[in-house]
Amino acid sequence: METRRILTFENVAKSFHGKTILENVSFNVHLGEFLYIIGKTGSGKSTLLKMIYADQKPDSGKIIFGDFDLGNISQNQIPFLRRKLGIVFQDFQLLPDRNVYDNISFCLRASGWTQESKISARIQEVMEKVGLNGKEKAMPHQLSGGEQQRVVIARALINDPLLLIADEPTGNLDPEMTDTIMELLRKINLSGTAILMVTHEHILLKRYPARALHITGKTVLEYSRSEQLLKDLYD
Ligand code: ADP
Repeated sequence: METRRILTFENVAKSFHGKTILENVSFNVHLGEFLYIIGKTGSGKSTLLKMIYADQKPDSGKIIFGDFDLGNISQNQIPFLRRKLGIVFQDFQLLPDRNVYDNISFCLRASGWTQESKISARIQEVMEKVGLNGKEKAMPHQLSGGEQQRVVIARALINDPLLLIADEPTGNLDPEMTDTIMELLRKINLSGTAILMVTHEHILLKRYPARALHITGKTVLEYSRSEQLLKDLYD
């Protein structure tokens, strides 16, 4: 049985000021998959992610996410697209002057939630999912880096996204916190959310094997096993 395809890149190209950054990029992501993206600094990893959340458009080729054609998406469709995506960056991006609850409720309201009882119930659910219940009143600075990143992940999960995009989610964390975040991402993935994770920490590809994309030579090489990609890189 074929699993449902949620993201398709077909012959995608992107350049900036006449300089080609990506070309002939083709790959698919299926429902519930975990994929790493690795590549040197400047190879186009963030650009590739930006095209998924419609912060950049491809110059040519096709990108389809769910029902959205990202080459032709209109401004007023973008908020609807982003409700189907969770986005997590390396720098935690919490509002420093609001507590955890307000950091999350802010996003729920921005995506159309109005009823306080529903907001509160949803926040309880996502906080439980990331193992942080009871911390709703804490200010970001009262939390460890790992805990802050878990709040960001909780916030990314509020609309039950089809796909979680994580750009170096463990980039600012020590090894122990990195493992906590990886275990959490794995748990979220096992519950059905597909994850696309950019990392420069190649050791993770060995410790937590998954599919992997290598951005190199302006294009994407696809590996069904991340260990094979490491072998090709280092052997
Ligand atoms: P990575 O995430 O792999 O480090 P990026 O996708 O950020 O790489 O950048 C790839 C290349 O595209 C870099 O040379 C960068 O300078 C260039 N670039 C990225 N975004 C823009 C932009 N908005 N305008 C011009 N050049 C850009």
